[in-house]
Amino acid sequence: MKMVLLLYKIDLKKNYEYIYNNNMEPTKEQTDAYKIYDKLSRQKKLDTMDENIKKLALEYRAIYRNNRTEEQKQKKIEWDRQYYQASHKEHLEYNKIRRNTEEYKAYMKEFRASENGIKSARITKMKQLGIISDDYEVLYEKWKNTTHCEECNVELVGGNKGANRKCIDHDHKTKLFRNIICHICNVKRGIKDNNIVAKTPEQIKEERRERYLRDKK
Ligand SMILES: [Zn+2]
Repeated sequence: MKMVLLLYKIDLKKNYEYIYNNNMEPTKEQTDAYKIYDKLSRQKKLDTMDENIKKLALEYRAIYRNNRTEEQKQKKIEWDRQYYQASHKEHLEYNKIRRNTEEYKAYMKEFRASENGIKSARITKMKQLGIISDDYEVLYEKWKNTTHCEECNVELVGGNKGANRKCIDHDHKTKLFRNIICHICNVKRGIKDNNIVAKTPEQIKEERRERYLRDKK
């Protein structure tokens, strides 16, 4: 039951994107529908509700959420925080069970393969790399649409292997994005940035030999 609720919530956000994007005012129909919804919700009788009225009620709620004042938003955050603290352990248990359900696994598999899933994974990766941006979505679009290295113009390939693989380059000091380049250019730039003198093959061989001898002892 809770699982279904979760999927429903995700769906809700998707369904009401038009409300979130266009500052809408609730109609009388929507307002009235929500009054019924609220009453039934308190009585835990939502499943008896007419689907069309429910739809209107949820539209009202989406509009209401979108038009909250700063004070109302803060109040909600505080309420959520208290709720979270009170039920944290219970949630952990619930999540553990939920993650193991076939339903959830199938949902996640589908999500990861979807456009949104790929985007979300890429943005998470950027954040893990420490890249700071005002708009990760714009950054993602750039990542997606860049087909050639912006340094040497070689055609880029996807995946984690190959000299031509796509890399996102950022300044390690300012943490700001620079450009999309190939792996070779990325390594070269790293060497330049950190004032590392490239090692000669002889040096690399010598280092390996030393390490080998040391480990042998
Ligand atoms: Zn390159």
